[in-house]
Amino acid sequence: MSINDCIFCKIAKKEMPAKIIYEDEKVVAFNDINPKAPIHILVIPKKHIESIKNLEQKDEELASSLILAAKKIAEQKGLSGYKLVFNVGKDGGQIINHLHLHLLAGKPIKLP
Ligand code: AMP
Ligand code: ZN
Repeated sequence: MSINDCIFCKIAKKEMPAKIIYEDEKVVAFNDINPKAPIHILVIPKKHIESIKNLEQKDEELASSLILAAKKIAEQKGLSGYKLVFNVGKDGGQIINHLHLHLLAGKPIKLP
């Protein structure tokens, strides 16, 4: 699949609809289309990076931006607690090959 076909790139470029919750110059966050918890938001970099496996040292700031964006969203929503999850690679449960951080909250969530 080429970057041009990447649905998360399309969401970041507003070429595909999504319920956008947060945006800054590097990051976009939107509601997961198939939520696994009452609150399930995906935080993605605008830049196409496939997964944590493809992160490079030069992406250090971008990687922390994802976590800080998730923290801001959680604060805005007044969440008392939440989970942040990266699925990494097919065997880690990653289906969409554009780096994304899952923000999950609203009920006790057990990791498998
Ligand atoms: P992962 O298994 O970590 O790759 O997670 C991909 C997530 O993307 C899943 O939770 C899907 O429900 C979600 N997803 C897939 N397509 C869309 C979409 N068009 N808009 C919002 N979320 C999506
Ligand atoms: Zn992409």
